[in-house]
Amino acid sequence: MYCEDCGKVLDSKIGRYHYKECGLDYVWLDGIEIYYCSNSQCNLYNEPLGAIPKIELLHSMLTKAIIASVFPFTGKESRFLRTYFQLKSKQWAELLTVSAETVSRWEKGVENIGSQSDFLMRLLSLRLLEEKEQSWIPEIKANQIISARKTEQPSSIFIKHTSGQFLLEKIPA
Ligand SMILES: [Zn+2]
Repeated sequence: MYCEDCGKVLDSKIGRYHYKECGLDYVWLDGIEIYYCSNSQCNLYNEPLGAIPKIELLHSMLTKAIIASVFPFTGKESRFLRTYFQLKSKQWAELLTVSAETVSRWEKGVENIGSQSDFLMRLLSLRLLEEKEQSWIPEIKANQIISARKTEQPSSIFIKHTSGQFLLEKIPA
């Protein structure tokens, strides 16, 4: 791989990568090949670029982790789930029986997702995931979905990549 900015061949190493591209700011991947430009004159000097394998598998795992999380959904999570299920705001809004403006305000972070919408979004996401994967997901229990949510937000999710598989290392509870 070559640097987009200066054209130099990128260096690489295996390490921990902050996977900001998924739209959630708390996802860290271990065992990822990270490319970076080692030319100190370059605008992209030391700018990490992760080569993410098996994104579909990874996003399925992230979706399950989010649905089962003990924290209230954020707008970023609404956007992640909606995008994962390839739905437009209007479609997401209809499924959640809110207006498209409400979805937009959630995703801009100017309005919190209410507890009823949070609950419905979890049930809906679980069902959509089962349809997408054509299998039922026994590891997520109803009481995880209906239980009261903690008020603070998760610090980080760590997922380890090793020989083509992902392993959820740590999810704050
Ligand atoms: Zn460069």
